[in-house]
Amino acid sequence: MNQLTISFIIPSYNEEANIAGVLNAITKEMKQQHYQFEILFIDDGSTDGTMETIQQLAFDYPVVKYLSFTRNFGKEAAVLAGLQHAKGEAVIMMDADLQHPASMVGHFIKGFEEGYDQVIAKRNRKGDSRFRSAISSAYYRIVNKAVDVRLSDGEGDFRLLSRKAVQALLTLSEGNRFSKGLYSWIGLDQKIISYENVAREKGETKWSISKLLNYGIDGIISFNNKPLRLCFYMGTIILMLSLIYIGITFFQILQNGIDVPGYFTTISAVLFLGGIQLVCMGIIGEYIGRIYYETKKRPHYLIKHTNIEKSEENEVYKSRF
Ligand code: UDP
Ligand code: MG
Repeated sequence: MNQLTISFIIPSYNEEANIAGVLNAITKEMKQQHYQFEILFIDDGSTDGTMETIQQLAFDYPVVKYLSFTRNFGKEAAVLAGLQHAKGEAVIMMDADLQHPASMVGHFIKGFEEGYDQVIAKRNRKGDSRFRSAISSAYYRIVNKAVDVRLSDGEGDFRLLSRKAVQALLTLSEGNRFSKGLYSWIGLDQKIISYENVAREKGETKWSISKLLNYGIDGIISFNNKPLRLCFYMGTIILMLSLIYIGITFFQILQNGIDVPGYFTTISAVLFLGGIQLVCMGIIGEYIGRIYYETKKRPHYLIKHTNIEKSEENEVYKSRF
Protein backbone atom coordinates (compact mmCIF):
# COMPACT_ATOMS: atom_id res chain seq x y z
CA MET A 1 0.00 0.00 0.00
CA ASN A 2 1.34 3.36 -1.06
CA GLN A 3 1.60 5.76 1.85
CA LEU A 4 0.55 8.78 -0.21
CA THR A 5 -2.95 10.01 0.51
CA ILE A 6 -5.43 11.31 -2.02
CA SER A 7 -8.08 13.74 -0.78
CA PHE A 8 -11.44 14.03 -2.49
CA ILE A 9 -13.20 17.36 -2.11
CA ILE A 10 -16.97 17.26 -2.56
CA PRO A 11 -18.87 20.56 -2.24
CA SER A 12 -22.45 19.64 -1.38
CA TYR A 13 -25.45 21.91 -1.22
CA ASN A 14 -28.78 20.15 -0.75
CA GLU A 15 -27.47 16.87 -2.13
CA GLU A 16 -29.09 14.54 0.37
CA ALA A 17 -30.06 12.09 -2.36
CA ASN A 18 -26.58 11.87 -3.83
CA ILE A 19 -24.10 11.72 -0.93
CA ALA A 20 -24.17 7.95 -0.40
CA GLY A 21 -23.86 7.37 -4.16
CA VAL A 22 -20.77 9.55 -4.36
CA LEU A 23 -19.15 7.76 -1.44
CA ASN A 24 -19.89 4.36 -3.04
CA ALA A 25 -18.58 5.37 -6.43
CA ILE A 26 -15.32 6.74 -5.01
CA THR A 27 -14.73 3.82 -2.66
CA LYS A 28 -15.28 1.39 -5.52
CA GLU A 29 -12.75 3.17 -7.73
CA MET A 30 -10.19 3.50 -4.97
CA LYS A 31 -10.28 -0.24 -4.28
CA GLN A 32 -8.42 -0.65 -7.55
CA GLN A 33 -5.80 1.93 -6.56
CA HIS A 34 -2.94 1.58 -4.15
CA TYR A 35 -3.41 4.81 -2.29
CA GLN A 36 -4.89 5.80 1.00
CA PHE A 37 -7.69 8.30 0.63
CA GLU A 38 -10.01 10.62 2.49
CA ILE A 39 -13.31 12.02 1.28
CA LEU A 40 -13.99 15.53 2.44
CA PHE A 41 -17.60 16.63 2.13
CA ILE A 42 -18.23 20.33 2.51
CA ASP A 43 -21.83 20.95 3.45
CA ASP A 44 -22.47 24.44 2.11
CA GLY A 45 -25.30 25.35 4.46
CA SER A 46 -27.75 22.79 3.07
CA THR A 47 -31.35 23.07 4.20
CA ASP A 48 -32.22 19.41 3.62
CA GLY A 49 -30.77 16.34 5.36
CA THR A 50 -27.36 16.54 3.67
CA MET A 51 -25.53 17.21 6.93
CA GLU A 52 -27.19 14.35 8.83
CA THR A 53 -26.47 11.96 5.95
CA ILE A 54 -22.81 12.93 5.92
CA GLN A 55 -22.48 12.66 9.70
CA GLN A 56 -24.03 9.21 9.66
CA LEU A 57 -21.63 8.07 6.94
CA ALA A 58 -18.67 9.58 8.83
CA PHE A 59 -19.72 7.51 11.80
CA ASP A 60 -19.66 4.32 9.73
CA TYR A 61 -16.68 5.05 7.48
CA PRO A 62 -13.53 6.67 8.85
CA VAL A 63 -12.49 7.91 5.38
CA VAL A 64 -15.38 10.38 5.48
CA LYS A 65 -14.45 13.83 6.76
CA TYR A 66 -16.76 16.80 6.75
CA LEU A 67 -17.00 20.51 7.25
CA SER A 68 -20.32 22.20 7.50
CA PHE A 69 -20.83 25.92 6.96
CA THR A 70 -23.05 28.13 9.07
CA ARG A 71 -24.97 29.12 5.93
CA ASN A 72 -24.72 28.86 2.15
CA PHE A 73 -21.45 30.54 1.16
CA GLY A 74 -21.35 29.30 -2.43
CA LYS A 75 -19.40 26.62 -4.23
CA GLU A 76 -16.21 28.65 -4.53
CA ALA A 77 -16.03 29.00 -0.75
CA ALA A 78 -16.73 25.29 -0.31
CA VAL A 79 -13.94 24.35 -2.70
CA LEU A 80 -11.56 26.72 -0.93
CA ALA A 81 -12.42 25.23 2.47
CA GLY A 82 -11.76 21.79 1.01
CA LEU A 83 -8.37 22.82 -0.32
CA GLN A 84 -7.45 24.35 3.03
CA HIS A 85 -8.36 21.22 4.96
CA ALA A 86 -7.26 18.47 2.58
CA LYS A 87 -4.25 16.57 3.83
CA GLY A 88 -3.46 14.53 0.73
CA GLU A 89 -0.49 14.70 -1.61
CA ALA A 90 -3.04 15.09 -4.36
CA VAL A 91 -6.56 16.46 -4.29
CA ILE A 92 -9.43 15.44 -6.56
CA MET A 93 -12.40 17.77 -6.75
CA MET A 94 -15.78 16.34 -7.70
CA ASP A 95 -19.37 17.56 -7.64
CA ALA A 96 -21.74 15.79 -5.29
CA ASP A 97 -24.37 15.26 -7.97
CA LEU A 98 -22.69 12.27 -9.70
CA GLN A 99 -22.28 14.36 -12.85
CA HIS A 100 -18.56 13.85 -12.51
CA PRO A 101 -18.02 10.15 -13.26
CA ALA A 102 -15.83 8.42 -10.68
CA SER A 103 -14.43 6.30 -13.51
CA MET A 104 -12.16 9.27 -14.24
CA VAL A 105 -10.34 8.79 -10.94
CA GLY A 106 -8.05 6.15 -12.43
CA HIS A 107 -7.07 8.52 -15.25
CA PHE A 108 -6.45 11.32 -12.77
CA ILE A 109 -4.14 9.20 -10.67
CA LYS A 110 -2.31 7.98 -13.75
CA GLY A 111 -1.70 11.60 -14.77
CA PHE A 112 -0.51 12.40 -11.26
CA GLU A 113 1.93 9.49 -11.36
CA GLU A 114 3.21 10.78 -14.68
CA GLY A 115 4.15 13.95 -12.84
CA TYR A 116 1.40 16.37 -13.86
CA ASP A 117 0.35 18.98 -11.31
CA GLN A 118 -3.11 19.47 -12.78
CA VAL A 119 -5.03 16.68 -14.44
CA ILE A 120 -8.16 18.24 -15.90
CA ALA A 121 -11.34 16.50 -16.98
CA LYS A 122 -12.89 18.30 -19.93
CA ARG A 123 -16.53 17.63 -20.63
CA ASN A 124 -18.35 17.99 -23.91
CA ARG A 125 -21.76 19.62 -23.95
CA LYS A 126 -23.80 16.56 -24.87
CA GLY A 127 -27.28 16.79 -23.38
CA ASP A 128 -27.11 20.53 -22.74
CA SER A 129 -29.66 22.64 -24.55
CA ARG A 130 -28.40 23.97 -27.86
CA PHE A 131 -29.16 27.50 -26.73
CA ARG A 132 -26.96 27.19 -23.64
CA SER A 133 -24.11 25.59 -25.62
CA ALA A 134 -24.20 28.37 -28.21
CA ILE A 135 -24.18 31.10 -25.54
CA SER A 136 -21.31 29.40 -23.73
CA SER A 137 -19.12 28.99 -26.75
CA ALA A 138 -19.71 32.64 -27.77
CA TYR A 139 -18.90 33.72 -24.22
CA TYR A 140 -15.61 31.84 -24.09
CA ARG A 141 -14.58 33.25 -27.45
CA ILE A 142 -15.13 36.81 -26.20
CA VAL A 143 -13.67 36.24 -22.77
CA ASN A 144 -10.44 34.77 -24.07
CA LYS A 145 -9.89 37.96 -26.06
CA ALA A 146 -10.68 40.09 -23.02
CA VAL A 147 -8.70 38.51 -20.19
CA ASP A 148 -5.07 37.54 -19.61
CA VAL A 149 -5.65 33.98 -18.47
CA ARG A 150 -7.03 31.33 -20.80
CA LEU A 151 -10.46 29.99 -19.92
CA SER A 152 -11.68 26.92 -21.68
CA ASP A 153 -15.24 25.68 -22.12
CA GLY A 154 -15.89 22.40 -20.35
CA GLU A 155 -12.89 22.57 -18.04
CA GLY A 156 -14.22 23.22 -14.57
CA ASP A 157 -13.61 22.09 -11.04
CA PHE A 158 -13.49 18.40 -11.92
CA ARG A 159 -9.73 17.88 -11.73
CA LEU A 160 -6.82 16.54 -9.77
CA LEU A 161 -4.38 18.99 -8.23
CA SER A 162 -0.99 18.06 -6.84
CA ARG A 163 0.04 19.40 -3.42
CA LYS A 164 2.16 21.96 -5.28
CA ALA A 165 -0.87 23.22 -7.20
CA VAL A 166 -2.96 23.34 -4.02
CA GLN A 167 -0.32 25.42 -2.24
CA ALA A 168 -0.16 27.75 -5.24
CA LEU A 169 -3.95 28.23 -5.18
CA LEU A 170 -3.90 28.91 -1.46
CA THR A 171 -1.45 31.76 -1.88
CA LEU A 172 -4.07 33.58 -3.99
CA SER A 173 -5.94 35.36 -1.26
CA GLU A 174 -8.65 37.24 -3.13
CA GLY A 175 -12.10 37.34 -1.64
CA ASN A 176 -13.98 37.04 -4.90
CA ARG A 177 -12.74 33.72 -6.19
CA PHE A 178 -13.28 32.90 -9.84
CA SER A 179 -11.69 29.47 -9.65
CA LYS A 180 -11.65 28.68 -13.37
CA GLY A 181 -9.38 31.66 -13.81
CA LEU A 182 -7.28 30.84 -10.76
CA TYR A 183 -6.53 27.31 -12.02
CA SER A 184 -5.36 28.78 -15.26
CA TRP A 185 -3.41 31.57 -13.55
CA ILE A 186 -1.21 29.22 -11.51
CA GLY A 187 -0.13 27.36 -14.66
CA LEU A 188 2.05 24.29 -13.86
CA ASP A 189 2.08 21.11 -15.96
CA GLN A 190 -1.39 20.18 -17.12
CA LYS A 191 -2.92 17.15 -18.72
CA ILE A 192 -6.41 17.27 -20.19
CA ILE A 193 -8.65 14.23 -20.44
CA SER A 194 -12.06 14.35 -22.16
CA TYR A 195 -15.22 12.77 -20.87
CA GLU A 196 -18.87 12.55 -21.86
CA ASN A 197 -21.21 14.97 -20.18
CA VAL A 198 -23.64 13.27 -17.79
CA ALA A 199 -27.06 14.68 -16.93
CA ARG A 200 -27.95 15.25 -13.29
CA GLU A 201 -30.25 12.52 -11.99
CA LYS A 202 -31.27 13.56 -8.51
CA GLY A 203 -31.68 16.93 -6.87
CA GLU A 204 -31.67 20.21 -8.74
CA THR A 205 -29.05 22.33 -10.41
CA LYS A 206 -28.18 25.43 -8.41
CA TRP A 207 -27.59 27.56 -11.48
CA SER A 208 -30.26 30.06 -12.40
CA ILE A 209 -30.00 32.38 -15.40
CA SER A 210 -29.07 35.32 -13.18
CA LYS A 211 -26.37 33.29 -11.40
CA LEU A 212 -24.92 32.33 -14.78
CA LEU A 213 -24.95 35.95 -15.88
CA ASN A 214 -23.15 37.06 -12.73
CA TYR A 215 -20.65 34.27 -13.17
CA GLY A 216 -20.02 35.46 -16.72
CA ILE A 217 -19.35 39.02 -15.58
CA ASP A 218 -17.05 37.77 -12.81
CA GLY A 219 -15.03 35.92 -15.41
CA ILE A 220 -14.37 39.09 -17.34
CA ILE A 221 -13.82 41.49 -14.45
CA SER A 222 -11.84 39.28 -12.05
CA PHE A 223 -8.71 38.99 -14.07
CA ASN A 224 -7.56 42.33 -15.40
CA ASN A 225 -8.48 45.88 -16.19
CA LYS A 226 -9.04 45.49 -19.92
CA PRO A 227 -12.70 46.59 -19.67
CA LEU A 228 -11.50 49.85 -18.12
CA ARG A 229 -9.10 50.27 -21.00
CA LEU A 230 -12.00 49.70 -23.39
CA CYS A 231 -13.80 52.66 -21.77
CA PHE A 232 -10.71 54.75 -22.29
CA TYR A 233 -10.53 53.83 -25.98
CA MET A 234 -14.24 54.43 -26.52
CA GLY A 235 -13.92 57.81 -24.85
CA THR A 236 -10.94 58.76 -26.97
CA ILE A 237 -12.53 57.72 -30.25
CA ILE A 238 -15.73 59.62 -29.46
CA LEU A 239 -13.74 62.67 -28.43
CA MET A 240 -11.86 62.63 -31.74
CA LEU A 241 -15.05 62.23 -33.77
CA SER A 242 -16.76 65.06 -31.92
CA LEU A 243 -13.76 67.34 -32.37
CA ILE A 244 -13.89 66.71 -36.10
CA TYR A 245 -17.65 67.31 -36.12
CA ILE A 246 -17.30 70.53 -34.13
CA GLY A 247 -14.53 71.71 -36.46
CA ILE A 248 -16.61 71.09 -39.57
CA THR A 249 -19.75 72.67 -38.11
CA PHE A 250 -17.81 75.72 -36.89
CA PHE A 251 -16.35 76.15 -40.35
CA GLN A 252 -19.83 75.93 -41.89
CA ILE A 253 -21.12 78.54 -39.42
CA LEU A 254 -18.33 80.89 -40.41
CA GLN A 255 -19.29 80.44 -44.05
CA ASN A 256 -23.09 80.28 -43.96
CA GLY A 257 -24.04 81.77 -40.60
CA ILE A 258 -25.91 79.90 -37.85
CA ASP A 259 -28.33 77.27 -39.02
CA VAL A 260 -31.03 76.84 -36.35
CA PRO A 261 -32.55 73.35 -36.95
CA GLY A 262 -30.33 70.94 -35.07
CA TYR A 263 -32.72 68.87 -33.04
CA PHE A 264 -31.62 65.52 -34.48
CA THR A 265 -27.89 66.05 -33.99
CA THR A 266 -28.36 67.41 -30.49
CA ILE A 267 -30.56 64.62 -29.29
CA SER A 268 -28.35 61.93 -30.88
CA ALA A 269 -25.26 63.34 -29.21
CA VAL A 270 -26.98 63.52 -25.81
CA LEU A 271 -28.32 59.98 -25.97
CA PHE A 272 -25.20 58.41 -27.42
CA LEU A 273 -22.80 60.07 -25.00
CA GLY A 274 -25.15 59.46 -22.09
CA GLY A 275 -25.26 55.78 -22.95
CA ILE A 276 -21.50 55.45 -23.24
CA GLN A 277 -21.00 57.28 -19.97
CA LEU A 278 -23.40 55.03 -18.13
CA VAL A 279 -21.74 51.89 -19.47
CA CYS A 280 -18.32 53.18 -18.42
CA MET A 281 -19.58 54.17 -15.00
CA GLY A 282 -21.03 50.70 -14.63
CA ILE A 283 -17.70 49.10 -15.46
CA ILE A 284 -15.82 51.37 -13.08
CA GLY A 285 -18.46 50.65 -10.45
CA GLU A 286 -17.84 46.91 -10.82
CA TYR A 287 -14.19 47.40 -9.99
CA ILE A 288 -14.88 49.75 -7.09
CA GLY A 289 -17.41 47.24 -5.73
CA ARG A 290 -14.75 44.59 -5.78
CA ILE A 291 -12.26 46.84 -4.02
CA TYR A 292 -14.91 47.51 -1.39
CA TYR A 293 -15.42 43.81 -0.72
CA GLU A 294 -11.71 43.05 -0.74
CA THR A 295 -10.96 45.76 1.82
CA LYS A 296 -13.40 44.21 4.27
CA LYS A 297 -11.21 41.11 4.36
CA ARG A 298 -14.02 38.96 5.58
CA PRO A 299 -13.40 35.22 5.89
CA HIS A 300 -14.68 33.18 2.94
CA TYR A 301 -16.81 30.96 5.16
CA LEU A 302 -17.61 30.06 8.77
CA ILE A 303 -17.58 26.50 10.03
CA LYS A 304 -20.37 25.09 12.19
CA HIS A 305 -19.44 21.41 12.54
CA THR A 306 -16.43 19.37 11.51
CA ASN A 307 -14.74 16.09 12.32
CA ILE A 308 -11.35 17.30 11.14
CA GLU A 309 -8.89 17.88 13.92
CA LYS A 310 -7.13 21.17 13.76
CA SER A 311 -3.57 20.82 12.61
CA GLU A 312 -1.01 23.59 12.78
CA GLU A 313 -0.51 23.37 9.06
CA ASN A 314 -4.11 24.24 8.32
CA GLU A 315 -4.09 27.09 10.80
CA VAL A 316 -1.27 28.70 8.87
CA TYR A 317 -3.29 28.77 5.68
CA LYS A 318 -6.28 30.23 7.38
CA SER A 319 -4.43 33.11 8.92
CA ARG A 320 -3.51 34.24 5.43
CA PHE A 321 -7.10 34.91 4.53
N1 UDP B 1 -22.80 23.66 -4.71
C1 UDP B 1 -22.36 24.20 -3.51
N2 UDP B 1 -22.83 25.43 -3.11
C2 UDP B 1 -23.72 26.14 -3.85
C3 UDP B 1 -24.13 25.60 -5.10
C4 UDP B 1 -23.66 24.36 -5.50
O1 UDP B 1 -21.57 23.58 -2.80
O2 UDP B 1 -24.11 27.22 -3.43
C5 UDP B 1 -22.31 22.33 -5.15
C6 UDP B 1 -23.41 21.35 -5.52
O3 UDP B 1 -23.87 20.64 -4.40
C7 UDP B 1 -22.70 20.43 -6.50
C8 UDP B 1 -21.72 21.38 -7.20
O4 UDP B 1 -21.57 22.49 -6.32
O5 UDP B 1 -21.95 19.43 -5.84
C9 UDP B 1 -22.21 21.80 -8.56
O6 UDP B 1 -23.52 22.32 -8.47
P1 UDP B 1 -24.60 22.08 -9.59
O7 UDP B 1 -24.71 20.63 -9.89
O8 UDP B 1 -25.84 22.78 -9.18
O9 UDP B 1 -23.97 22.81 -10.81
P2 UDP B 1 -23.90 22.29 -12.34
O10 UDP B 1 -23.42 20.87 -12.30
O11 UDP B 1 -25.29 22.41 -12.85
O12 UDP B 1 -22.92 23.22 -12.99
MG1 MG C 1 -24.18 19.45 -11.44
